[in-house]
Amino acid sequence: MSLKNFYVTTPIYYANSAPHIGSAYTTIVADIIAKYKRFCGYDVYFLTGTDEHGQKILESAKAANKDPQIFCDELAGKFQQLWKEMEISNDDFIRTTQKRHEQVVQKVVQTLLDKGDIYKGKYEGLYCVHDETFWTQEDAIKKEAKHFCPECNRELTWFSEENYFFKLSKYQDDLLKLYEDKPAFVEPDFRRNEMLQIIKGGLRDLSISRTSFDWGIPMPNDPDHVIYVWVDALINYISAVGFGTDQDQLYNQFWPADLHLIGKEINRFHSIIWPALLMALEIPLPEKVFAHGWLTVNGEKISKSTGNAIDPRLLMDAYGKDAIKYYLLRDINFGKDGDFSEDNLIGRINADLANDLGNLVHRTTAMIKQNFNGVVPEPSQEAEGYDLQLKNLFELAVTKYLDNMDHYKFTQALESVWSFIGFANKYIDLTEPWKLAKEEESRKRLASVLYNLSEALRNIALFIKPIMEDTSKEIFRRLGIADRWTDCDYTQLKWGLLVPGSTVIKEAPIFPRIDIEKTSKVIIMNTDAQQTASSAENEKNEGTLIIGFDEFKKVDLRVAEIVAAEPVPKANKLVKLQLNVGEPEPRQIVAGISQFYSTEELVGKKIIVVANLKPAKLMGIKSTGMLLAAKDGENLRLLTVDGDIQPGSKVS
Ligand SMILES: [Zn+2]
Repeated sequence: MSLKNFYVTTPIYYANSAPHIGSAYTTIVADIIAKYKRFCGYDVYFLTGTDEHGQKILESAKAANKDPQIFCDELAGKFQQLWKEMEISNDDFIRTTQKRHEQVVQKVVQTLLDKGDIYKGKYEGLYCVHDETFWTQEDAIKKEAKHFCPECNRELTWFSEENYFFKLSKYQDDLLKLYEDKPAFVEPDFRRNEMLQIIKGGLRDLSISRTSFDWGIPMPNDPDHVIYVWVDALINYISAVGFGTDQDQLYNQFWPADLHLIGKEINRFHSIIWPALLMALEIPLPEKVFAHGWLTVNGEKISKSTGNAIDPRLLMDAYGKDAIKYYLLRDINFGKDGDFSEDNLIGRINADLANDLGNLVHRTTAMIKQNFNGVVPEPSQEAEGYDLQLKNLFELAVTKYLDNMDHYKFTQALESVWSFIGFANKYIDLTEPWKLAKEEESRKRLASVLYNLSEALRNIALFIKPIMEDTSKEIFRRLGIADRWTDCDYTQLKWGLLVPGSTVIKEAPIFPRIDIEKTSKVIIMNTDAQQTASSAENEKNEGTLIIGFDEFKKVDLRVAEIVAAEPVPKANKLVKLQLNVGEPEPRQIVAGISQFYSTEELVGKKIIVVANLKPAKLMGIKSTGMLLAAKDGENLRLLTVDGDIQPGSKVS
């Protein structure tokens, strides 16, 4: 067992809809942190899971016509499946409907009842069913004597019932002291300040039980009440490691958690209610709550209506896990809101991965293959100018990388690695190995240059090991040291550890460039999706296409009286018609009906036309609209009206 422990958690995801790129983002970051800590020699416990109680889930299950437990089983399965496909390295997956969790929740609540920190009282107030959150009159948004949720804008309901309360107010001063003594308890600092303002504004006791539904954990002393889903959910962080049970080895080893990774919308629960509950339990507080920002997709908020952007699998299948992870960490400044843009993702793949990193791998292995039979040469010469520069930049990159990774500044960590990659490429241009290869006396110099490049690559593979595992592994393989990848860690981030003599592998580029013009995009926003779907539908079902009334309504059908008709010269089928469509001027339509009607027959007929068809020219004659006719083999008849009606009347 290592002396250094690290316990990292994601929020447990609410099991009422399938995982999307937003939940994947939090999990990817937590996974990278877990892998980084393991890389740094920590014994890591990485927890994720699903939150499965509460009214919202009960309602979603009802809407899906499913038993709530079966409903939750299915969704929890989807999360587990996705994490497996993404090779997320979680050590545990907790579900709040599991016995191991329920019994700890009841035990915690009983402890607080015994202590008097939970008491029975009457609750009246505004409640958001969607967020399962109470709001005060002041916080609620008022519109025409109604109240709306400041979080989700849904209408709030008035709630009045006897229930149990947690004495949150009792811990106000202790919380203030916590924020003062440990400024890094909540990060980023602007999120900490938001929480501090709430605490300073005064904390009310928290209603922690419900009687209006039963999909939850019963109060241990009063089973007609179920425990508020948020209190239930927060306890997962200690129930998963066996707090309060006789299986508490993991709790003893890993608690307090080092990092609760959350989205900003649930910061209040994690940074105020959770520490207060732990204070009441008299157990140590977590080291840090990190509330990251929200992800939009192509500039739009993620929701079911965003389109397929909610499925991270499609992106992984198209671009690969590593590219997605690299992009998320490099482009989205962790902590702040960010946008997932497919164009920017492709841009990063082409510039940073294919060009910078891919080329360095390719050039280095190619030159070793060409000049040293593919064997990494011995650096047989004293380091000189550019070599020292490369080594110094590497050492600077190590310091910056470790410091930034330790502080969850992933963008900056990757920037320092990529500036080293940039210099390594430049080092090739500066040392000009192709010139060195021409002269026998510069062979030693050539060996040193190619060794240095290989050593740069080995270290780059280490830098990216926690972030892009497949790529890291692949670089080791290309350097002919694949067997050393699994055990390598941060202690090997040192210049000169590469043992010469391994045989490199030169293959196709590790990241092929993506032609942005020729590639069809993975993310289809909903507006695009509808168009694509309906045109595809059109092609499939020509003749039997079923359209909605809205689509039918778009066609402006009108009654038209034929006022004049003349044959079109040189066109043996066409007739030029002047129509009264109830407009100030007659309309001209050209129709291929001359073999079925004489011009005399046509004049005076009241027919049906499509009045809003895009104007066209037939034999150079303008035609504004189209008449309706029915065809049966060789026979054609115009659609006419039954009885007298004003020209221009709308057909519906
Ligand atoms: Zn709400």
